[in-house]
Amino acid sequence: MKKLVSLMAVLALGAGLATVPAAAQEKGTVGIAMPTKSSARWISDGNSMVEQFEAAGYGTDLQYAEDDIPNQLAQIENMITKGVDVLVIAAIDGTTLSNALENAAASGIRVIAYDRLIRDSGNVDYYATFDNFKVGVQQASSLVAGLKERFPDADTWNVELFGGSPDDNNAYFFYDGAMSVLQPLIDDGSINVASGQMGMDTVGTLRWDGAVAQARMDNLLSAHYTDQNVHGVLSPYDGLSIGILSSLKGVGYGSGDLKMPIVTGQDAEVPSVKSILAGEQYSTVFKDTRELARVTVGMVDALLQGSEPEINDTSTYDNGVKVVPSYLLEPVSVDASNWEEILIGSGYYTMDQIQ
Ligand code: BGC
Repeated sequence: MKKLVSLMAVLALGAGLATVPAAAQEKGTVGIAMPTKSSARWISDGNSMVEQFEAAGYGTDLQYAEDDIPNQLAQIENMITKGVDVLVIAAIDGTTLSNALENAAASGIRVIAYDRLIRDSGNVDYYATFDNFKVGVQQASSLVAGLKERFPDADTWNVELFGGSPDDNNAYFFYDGAMSVLQPLIDDGSINVASGQMGMDTVGTLRWDGAVAQARMDNLLSAHYTDQNVHGVLSPYDGLSIGILSSLKGVGYGSGDLKMPIVTGQDAEVPSVKSILAGEQYSTVFKDTRELARVTVGMVDALLQGSEPEINDTSTYDNGVKVVPSYLLEPVSVDASNWEEILIGSGYYTMDQIQ
């Protein structure tokens, strides 16, 4: 019997080595599909998950798809073929995974949507994310606070709106959350969108691409701001904010008496934190990726050990086929007044990384 067990262990080890490039895997292997390394937050998400899954006794297979949809699909199919036990997926395009997830379900593989909802599939077990509507509320609230502070005498604030990627479900929540704050101010004339460009179908930024945002800001400035100034820009993500700020600086904002407009952001990425300290970007939203990893590891562990994952939302995230049970974490608005307490105090960054 002993011999048989050790033979099986050797075989299992051999099979494991051949198929899964992972370390600890007594409790199973988790395939982690992340969208891109071009943004630091996803690198941090991936690293935190690998660290925490391995500490909990799981093997991991972490893949990044560089924002290429077929590439991400191939990575997921490959994980299914290798026989991972669970898939944790931050989708590039949340609507393109239905077939792949059918295959996963047919192999008994459970699926967690990570940060971004996977749409149009019944084969999504749980969703771990932040309160995405609240992210938008925080962005717009910070924008309005900044407008009051920097442009107290303007009769009307000229503001332009940017949205995230239309293939990312989160982008609509960010936009809707922001508009819940801005629309009343647009209606009462406190805010004017001089371009008239509103709505996700008009202001969305495919693949969250900063260069696309920069080009759109260039166009907005030359078409609508030659004889008036822009006072604020709603930006849903730091990578877009950096592009928008380049465009603004290119025509002289932030120098002489042309004040820098209030520009928001999200993810507290290092270049944006530095920009906030330099008085350029006004704010960002911090989402602690270590916490999101912790929630996700907890969900996976519960699923595989046969208990109920902890959730705190069973109504918000309808993916078109089902309402996906979710755990929502709290985002935190960060600006020049609290960055040190929130980002350094929590140990997310060291002072060396920022200064
Ligand atoms: C995430 C944001 C991120 C954006 C761009 C969204 O799905 O929730 O944190 O800024 O993607 O990567």
